[in-house]
Parts: sequence; C-alpha cells; structure tokens
Amino acid sequence: MNVKKLIRPELETLVSYTPIEPIDVLDQRIGGGIIKLDGNENPYGCSPKIYQALANYPYYHTYPDPEQRKLRQALEQYTGLKYENIICGSGSDELIDLVLRLFLQPGDEAINCSPTFGMYPFSTRICGGNLVDVPRDKDFAIDMDGVKKALSEKTKVIFITSPNNPTGNLITEQEIIELVNTGRIVVLDEAYFEFGGVTMANLVPNYPNLIVLRTFSKWAGLAGLRIGYGIFPVEIANYLMRIKQPYNVSVAAQVAVLVSLADIEYLHSNVKKIVVERERLFGRLKNLEWLKPYPSRANFVLCSVVEGRAKEIWHQLQKKNIFIRYFDSLQLRNYLRVSVGKHEDTETLIRALSEIESGGI
Ligand SMILES: *Cc1c(COP(=O)(O)O)cnc(C)c1O
Repeated sequence: MNVKKLIRPELETLVSYTPIEPIDVLDQRIGGGIIKLDGNENPYGCSPKIYQALANYPYYHTYPDPEQRKLRQALEQYTGLKYENIICGSGSDELIDLVLRLFLQPGDEAINCSPTFGMYPFSTRICGGNLVDVPRDKDFAIDMDGVKKALSEKTKVIFITSPNNPTGNLITEQEIIELVNTGRIVVLDEAYFEFGGVTMANLVPNYPNLIVLRTFSKWAGLAGLRIGYGIFPVEIANYLMRIKQPYNVSVAAQVAVLVSLADIEYLHSNVKKIVVERERLFGRLKNLEWLKPYPSRANFVLCSVVEGRAKEIWHQLQKKNIFIRYFDSLQLRNYLRVSVGKHEDTETLIRALSEIESGGI
C-alpha cells in the first residue's frame, strides 16, 4: 500500500509554517530564566481573574455553544459592531483558513503582500489555491498598482495586515477602500489593533466584501487558549456559520474571553505599558549604530542589521537565553524582529546586544 499515492499531490511540496518553540519546551531545555521575545506574546500574561473563573467553571463535560451567543454578545459591546457580524474562531488562524475554504476553488488565487504573516500562504496552499505575491515597497507600504496589476479572473481574496507583522506599519483607509473596490474579498487582519489604535472595522457594514480579523492572543494574553474573531458582512457571516466546525471554540476560551472583557481596564493598562515600552525599546535599539529599527504600531520592533549578520546575532542571543526572530528572505535580508517585553527585558536585551557587538559580529 502506497499512502503517498493517495495524498493530494499539491500537498507533497507544501512548505509547512515555521512555528516558534513553546516556553515549556524551552524551559525544560534551559532550566528557566528565559527571555521570550520571539512570538509577540504578552509579557504580562492574561487577566489574573481567569484562573479562578476557569477553576470554578462547572460545564467542561458538555460541548460549547455552536452559536457562540455569549461571546458574540460580549464582542458586540467591545467592537461596537453587530452580533450578526461577529464570528469567533480557534485563533484568528482558524478564521483565515475558514474564509479561504469558503471562497477558494482549486486554482483560485489569493494576493499576499510580503513581507507579512506566514499563515496566508500556508492556508492558501492547503485550501488548493495559488498564492500571488505582490511585495511591499522599500518602506513596506502596499504596492497598490502592483496589486491591481496582479488581479486576474481567478483572484478571490486579498490579504492585508495592519499593523503589519513583521514591519509594524499601518495601511490607510483610502487604500483599503481602493482594494475593496476591486470587488475581491479583502481580509484585513488587525491582530495588533489594540497596540496601534487604528481600525477599519467600522467600514465592514458598508461593504459586502470587507472582512476584519482580530485576536485575543496578543493584547489580552490568550495565545495559548486559541481565540480570535472576525467582523464580517452578514452574508459572509451566514455562510461561515454554515461551514465552520460547530464546536470550534472551547468552553475554556469562552470563559477566558468573557472574563477578559470584564477586566478590560487591567488589560488596557498592560497594553499601555507595552506601547510605552515599545517606544523606549525603539530608542534603545536606535542608539546601537549597527541596527536600524523601524517605527511600529504593534507590540514588536523590526530592525535591519546594518552591520553584522542577523542570524549570528539571533544565535548569540539564544546562547544568552534571549529568544527573538531573524529573517533572511528576499525582502527582509538580514533583519531581526523583537517582541516588546517588560522594561527589564529591554535592558537585558540591550546589554546582551552590546556585549555581542564588543565581541565582534
Ligand atoms: C499572531 C497573528 C495572528 C494569529 O492570531 P491567533 O488568533 O493566535 O491565531 C494572526 N494574524 C497576525 C498578523 C498575527 O501576527
């Protein structure tokens, strides 16, 4: 029996998503003292009220609500949008996949504006689609003419991230409207909205083809519980409700979201601290002459390594138990991305970078 013959041939060559290592694995290997600045995770964790709420929750033995009623009601309040527009997923990653499953037939195209989040190419290929990449310009703005030229009869979806990961910059409202006017499905991923304060979610009710995705992973510190949501035109929301796994959001995630939204002042105070620290981190990185940090509206800072090799710096930092990301792709040749941690994390990182510099890179 030859399993390989049975597998969808296009998946044979699929490049899988490069994930980061989880903290418990790192902790076990290194034995604590890790500074984890590689996953854009929240250094303050989640709302502490979640622990008690999860401990007391009595219904783990029954399935979650397929209609996600309580979640959608709570999110109606948080977003200012309507219940019918909101659907939750097991992370916004699941919603990226679900949207593609709804729209892509084999051979259909999705537009990606690299450098950006790796899930769009990954999910497009898994869904049998072809990815058409339209690289951003040298300041990482969207190449609007390039996107329009790349449109074909097969183009179904355009992915835009704002603030963009890993570059940290925003798209303008005018650009989004121009893209929406192409008549394709525009997926605007606002995973970092809370750190930048700019959203286009309010535009969703005006257009039948604009989708905004959000997550609790970053600002609310719930990456491990897998919970995101989308704001969809009602027609699309109705189709998605028909094709989604009925129990896609766990009861634990539901409890955590309700507690988070009831503890919003605490979470917002952490977001504020992260934003203050982001600006401080930017300044500290800028002081190192061999790094060029890019301004960011998210919870990370991208740096071009002007002198030295990003991969080597990444490696040297890892030896000091500091974990960041490095890039060495066509558009991000020799770059580092540092997630914003606490004040003391920034200090430890800068000290380590200075030591690496004086040791020669
Ligand atoms: C982190 C991230 C996500 C993933 O969100 P989950 O809700 O954890 O799946 C989505 N989009 C972008 C751009 C991200 O950086």
